[in-house]
Amino acid sequence: MNIVRATHLGMCFGVRDAIDLALEHAGAAPLTILGDLVHNPTVLRALEAKGIAIAHDVAEVKTPTVMVTAHGTSGRTLARTRALGLTVVEATCPLVHVAHRAVTALAGEGYHVVIVGKRDHVEVRGLTGDLDRFDVVLEDADVLALEPHPRIGVAAQTTQPVEKVRHLVNLIRRRFPQSDVKFIDTVCKPTKQRQSAAIEMARQADVVIVVGGRSSNNTRELVTTCGLYCSRVHHVETDADVRAEWFDAVEVVGLTAGTSTPDDVIDRVEARIRLVDAERRAATA
Ligand code: SF4
Repeated sequence: MNIVRATHLGMCFGVRDAIDLALEHAGAAPLTILGDLVHNPTVLRALEAKGIAIAHDVAEVKTPTVMVTAHGTSGRTLARTRALGLTVVEATCPLVHVAHRAVTALAGEGYHVVIVGKRDHVEVRGLTGDLDRFDVVLEDADVLALEPHPRIGVAAQTTQPVEKVRHLVNLIRRRFPQSDVKFIDTVCKPTKQRQSAAIEMARQADVVIVVGGRSSNNTRELVTTCGLYCSRVHHVETDADVRAEWFDAVEVVGLTAGTSTPDDVIDRVEARIRLVDAERRAATA
């Protein structure tokens, strides 16, 4: 079996820097991370092993310092957290900051803001948390439900597939031909690179393995994208999820991973696939 790794895969600089920042601060003083720093259980367990607490609400925080995740948060939430006397360490990815600035600019120019993304995702809550009026769309039906506005400003959750975002922007333009629709592309470069490398890899593969947390948005998007080009796609969190029967009559295995998947988790999945292959060849020798 030949294993083809996507040319861009796994942890992005934003997640890597956020983890380093958490470890650096945890070494100096007790730290609580507000929400999942990344959507990957392996990384979260490693942080907890270093004594870093994780809280999903500011009311649960018992340390004087809290860290905002790589997904960022709104100015209102930051102000509320600081008002409680907590010191805030921001691990917000610079490319999420770019998306925040785009939303602020659109709202400042009088556009009704529409975000392409998942309504309940922490990044989208952060992007919209300072707005009094906005819409979030993810599917065609969401666009059809939008109210008309003379000026509509569209930005995206950084991890959405850019083709899907462009499709929804076009749909908004077609639905509201009288409106001034301005689009700022805030899908981040690592997401775009991983998506296009995954397509290239999936085109050549008999089976694709996508490594990443079950709740990781960009990992699930990679699963969906690969499924358009390869009929056999499996999502695994770790090497323990890999099943030997997936590789029956397979010559090329494609491998990719979401932006919060650590390198060693990907390496172990690849090693497990190689072991399955070696066992199979030994059984038929
Ligand atoms: S996926 Fe993109 S925006 Fe999110 S942390 Fe990584 S580089 Fe930053």
